[in-house]
Amino acid sequence: MARTRPEDIAPLWRRACEAAIAFRHDVPNRAASPQDDYAASLRAFSAPLPGSGSDPGDVLGDLVRLADPGLMTPTGPRFFGWVIGGSHPAGVAADWLTSAWGQNAGNHEASPAASAAETVAAGWLLELLDLPRESSLGFVTGATMANFTALAAARGAVLRAVGWDVESDGLFGAPPVTVLIGEEAHATAYAALQLLGLGRDRVVRLPADDQGRIVTDPALEALAAARTPAIVILQAGQLNTGAFDDFAALVPAAHETGAWVHVDGAFGLWARASGRTRALTEGVDAADSWAVDGHKWLQTPYDCGYVIVRDREAHERAMTIAASYLPASAAGDRDPSHVVPELSRRARGFATWAMIRTLGRDGIEEMVDRHCACARLVADRLRAEPGIEVLGDVGLNQVLVRFGAELDADEGDRVTRETVARVRSDGVCFVGGSSWRGREAMRFSVIGVETDEVEASRSAESVVTAYRKTVGTS
Ligand SMILES: *Cc1c(COP(=O)(O)O)cnc(C)c1O
Repeated sequence: MARTRPEDIAPLWRRACEAAIAFRHDVPNRAASPQDDYAASLRAFSAPLPGSGSDPGDVLGDLVRLADPGLMTPTGPRFFGWVIGGSHPAGVAADWLTSAWGQNAGNHEASPAASAAETVAAGWLLELLDLPRESSLGFVTGATMANFTALAAARGAVLRAVGWDVESDGLFGAPPVTVLIGEEAHATAYAALQLLGLGRDRVVRLPADDQGRIVTDPALEALAAARTPAIVILQAGQLNTGAFDDFAALVPAAHETGAWVHVDGAFGLWARASGRTRALTEGVDAADSWAVDGHKWLQTPYDCGYVIVRDREAHERAMTIAASYLPASAAGDRDPSHVVPELSRRARGFATWAMIRTLGRDGIEEMVDRHCACARLVADRLRAEPGIEVLGDVGLNQVLVRFGAELDADEGDRVTRETVARVRSDGVCFVGGSSWRGREAMRFSVIGVETDEVEASRSAESVVTAYRKTVGTS
């Protein structure tokens, strides 16, 4: 039955809603690791292409049953595996409506409400992050696309400054662009370079310290020697350590050489939302573009990120899709499709608007502070255990850990790997495995809205227990 009778909608949606509620109620009590791995989930889902349709209620029932054992728990209070936000219930509710309303956020005409929510939420985001209010902001799928979009604007602007129109003429024959990037930058910044024809490896790598921060003095020298046109990519919140590059020194030096400065701040830019962590980002507002996520610290559901560009014209020139059938927005009006790569697009402004309203400035600050306090608490507990080493300062919400400190490096790798596996199979919390400076590490990222000190302590104890079991001391 391809068409739905109006009276069939309510039972179907109520059932989806009930299943969602049951899952969210259960999450704090279920094992933090999924019961099924990918292979088991794939076996469950595998089936021949359906030749004919099924009752949507049956389909929904099957979906819930098949998916459940393979569902991860980022919405729970003890998920620390990656920097993955907790999909706050208020954001989810707005997101449900977004789907139910079936709005296309491509332009003002296609959904006046979706465009309006984006415009207002964009203004709020610039205030919360305290970035230049004249910037333009686009709603993208995440920081990966935000990095891509911002670097496309950067590419266009620096080439335009030397008389080359990359949007029209492409990169063939263009003056070479120098890209300077920290060696511990996020893989998605490199991926953006790869997509933009700037080359993942055709870069000047700026050396980083043991926190993953660009070392300032050699970077200043590299900047002074850089040939223009140039783009510099800095980072607010290193994935493993949460460290910040020295914006106050590096941004003005990059501008001195005429470079465009982009900052990847997927989660770290939210440090600006709290008086206690804001100083970590000092000088970041002088950059030219920024990438930040909604689905990390702001707790919107997936997928939601923001690209922010100071030079509105450069942003729009890089992204504008022009076609005769598309309505032109009034001069000066923000056109949502002129600041992102896509045309048809999910209306992410609704969930963003709802999350900012729900938490408010105070609530966001409280959450950032709470997560940073949890990270310090976990680091202190782990440091107190002989043989566990916390790598780095824990200035934000990331705790990077190495086990078997007294062992030789290979043994330490083995113990670290086994401890991570044991923590996961014990099921109290979910932690990340990582590698840091060529060695195995455990990453403990505090980012989910439900995490508090009690849950964090309980999780730290479970890590200590798993470590003791691994080395046979209990
Ligand atoms: C998560 C992250 C990204 C990628 O963001 P997505 O939202 O996964 O696309 C980029 N940079 C940093 C620093 C990150 O933490």
